[in-house]
Amino acid sequence: MPTYGRLPVIFERGEGAWLFDQDNNRYLDALSGIAVCSLGHAHPAVHQAICKQSEKLLHTSNLYGIAVQEQLANLLTEKSGMDNVFFCNSGAEANEAAIKLARKYGHEQGIEKPAIIVMEKSFHGRTLATLSATGNTKIQQGFAPLVEGFVRVPYNDIKAIEQALEQNANIVAILVEPIQGEGGVNIPAADYLNQIRSLCDQHNVLMMLDEIQTGIGRTGKFLAFQHNSITPDVCTLAKALGNGVPIGACLARGKAAKVLIAGNHGSTFGGNPLACSAAIAVLATLDAENLIEQAAQKGAAICTAFKEKLKDNEHVVDIRHKGLMIGIELDSPCAELVQAALQQKLLINVTNEKTIRLLPPLIISVQQVTQLVETLSALIHTHTNTPYEA
Ligand SMILES: *Cc1c(COP(=O)(O)O)cnc(C)c1O
Repeated sequence: MPTYGRLPVIFERGEGAWLFDQDNNRYLDALSGIAVCSLGHAHPAVHQAICKQSEKLLHTSNLYGIAVQEQLANLLTEKSGMDNVFFCNSGAEANEAAIKLARKYGHEQGIEKPAIIVMEKSFHGRTLATLSATGNTKIQQGFAPLVEGFVRVPYNDIKAIEQALEQNANIVAILVEPIQGEGGVNIPAADYLNQIRSLCDQHNVLMMLDEIQTGIGRTGKFLAFQHNSITPDVCTLAKALGNGVPIGACLARGKAAKVLIAGNHGSTFGGNPLACSAAIAVLATLDAENLIEQAAQKGAAICTAFKEKLKDNEHVVDIRHKGLMIGIELDSPCAELVQAALQQKLLINVTNEKTIRLLPPLIISVQQVTQLVETLSALIHTHTNTPYEA
């Protein structure tokens, strides 16, 4: 089905931050398949883990014990401070698990119509419940009736959350991205998550973080909430967890970890040996190659370089980042920059119409960073009709 507006290119193989098309042209990948291939393409550790596991078992069933699933759950809980994990196959599914968990948590307290606070400009997925939670009418258009039980407030607005909590006794959870990715790389106030944590404690509601894009080292910590020294009650992961092998996870802690019990939720493929082996290799490689610290350093270096190159361009409104989640906001729509960059063999993305989004792999080299900054700065100057000398 024509559900995607595709760019006119087909890639055949990759190597680190490079992708090669069918004519063997080389492209610099500054998007990583939208924050998925953080270790770059064809990373040997992931390749070997998948090959080794496929010699033994691809799938059994969650009817039986799965040793690598337990091993991955132990790694994730240890690294996150959470207590347990439900495994699935995508981000939307991870959020579905979180939404079901929140509703059951509410019902256990006698709340018959549990509601979840969600944000304007949020993105949580394309299933019915997650598109209902998403704060973008374009994504919802044509799919009414939406799933009920969501209360929307502006992002980065603690007062609005306070008011919603006071006005609505049915609220059982707050679902929020630590940084909005699809919404335009929106970075909230430094203490936003801390304030949400206190409000959730005061009102006995669950703090649920969608870390599907921000998680697994992208922002310079294993999980973005670790910048704030807090722990949520629920946290969802997917994208970079398998470096391209589909896997999602819903992590829970404390009272939230006790809500879903046998028979409440399930997935045929979720947490199968193949996907879990890939994810274990990803986590091991992040540590072995010190990539999370590198995400922080490289992100800072890239933004400093862009700020220098673009400092005289008055059409650049803002350059912001946390680790290697980078947004360059212009003063007018710039979606056509994606095509222009493709012609220069550079892969980028534009979100929220005016924001260039960069999600390069954590393994990007110094030379590749230079190429990214120079190529994209020149493109931005051309796009905004601003004179430029490289
Ligand atoms: C990508 C994304 C999702 C959806 O993940 P899928 O695997 O496409 O279902 C949900 N939330 C956030 C924040 C995302 O970036």
